[in-house]
Amino acid sequence: MYKRLAALALGLALLCGCGAAAQPQKETETVQAAQEMRSTEFFAMDTVMSVRACGADEALLAQAEALVLSLEEELSTTREGSAVYTLDHEGHAELSERAAYLLGRALALCAETDGALDVSVYPVVRAWGFTTADGSYRVPDAAELDALLQNVDYTRVLLDGTEASVPEGMEIDLGAVTKGYTGDLLTALLRESGVESALLDLGGNVQTVGCKPDGSNWRVGVKDPAGEGLLGALAVADKAVVTSGGYERYFTDDAGTLYWHIMDPRSGCPARNGLISVTVVGDEGLYCDALSTALFVMGTEDAIAFWRAHRDFDMVLVTEDGRLLLTPALAERFTPADALRYETAVIADA
Ligand code: ADP
Ligand code: MG
Repeated sequence: MYKRLAALALGLALLCGCGAAAQPQKETETVQAAQEMRSTEFFAMDTVMSVRACGADEALLAQAEALVLSLEEELSTTREGSAVYTLDHEGHAELSERAAYLLGRALALCAETDGALDVSVYPVVRAWGFTTADGSYRVPDAAELDALLQNVDYTRVLLDGTEASVPEGMEIDLGAVTKGYTGDLLTALLRESGVESALLDLGGNVQTVGCKPDGSNWRVGVKDPAGEGLLGALAVADKAVVTSGGYERYFTDDAGTLYWHIMDPRSGCPARNGLISVTVVGDEGLYCDALSTALFVMGTEDAIAFWRAHRDFDMVLVTEDGRLLLTPALAERFTPADALRYETAVIADA
């Protein structure tokens, strides 16, 4: 459904064309060729990604895909030889400028969110079986989690310029921020190449360049975390829209208890603090990605308190008890799906 809505937005864009077609220029003899919406789809970072850009040629789309693949190669926790793999296995690594930038920003956001985001939670995520594709999920016992939590502490990750190191027993994972950062680098590449209208879907992370070619907002579908359909659509331009939800990767035990892949670094267990999905809307993919994970961990009350203290992003929270909470700026931008079964409310300013 979510993908279908994005496709609908593309459909409209295709009908409208862009550039000269949308803005007739009377007095000039030069006829600018109407720019077409071109798109590419590929599998990377464990998900299907699509890039749709107005006026992009095949070479630019290939460059965009190559950029994503090179980031994956560098930041993957599981690819032998990646910078993160080396850091995790050898305790230190020389990072590229961009990987060092990402780690630096991620560490700052771990601090900003008071450890709700913690890049060193990786061994815990693995203990629950969420790092392999084969679905070998399990519930670790308290002693095992206690031992693993001894090495969960982002403040002990050292970054000096491009040199990173972690203490013995610690492993990091930038999975909570990589797709957002990837979206930022992709939008920068497209803009530098002259693209003024684009829609990127990086598996749960949507990033937009400008507005639709006809000048209207992009409409980004937000998935219903408890069902197959959509909660509704957000009208945005030049924004990142990033969702973290318990529905993305999860398993249930024999008693029917649900466990998902977003961990509370304090308990070592899946974060269960009242939220089932968090969508963050803002200018930067990296920031939105970090916050979607961190606010999910914080839970309803702390997420609202964080928003009130920062105000540099907007959010849609879906609570376990059936409420849909929007920050005030989204009230106008959000169109609920028909027959929405959540009780919708706007979060008070203070
Ligand atoms: P996704 O990547 O599935 O779209 P997120 O951006 O929320 O979703 O990132 C979740 C990933 O981040 C997990 O798969 C795990 O590797 C890692 N992770 C889980 N909990 C945390 C946490 N509290 N802090 C940092 N990373 C986390
Ligand atoms: Mg995230």
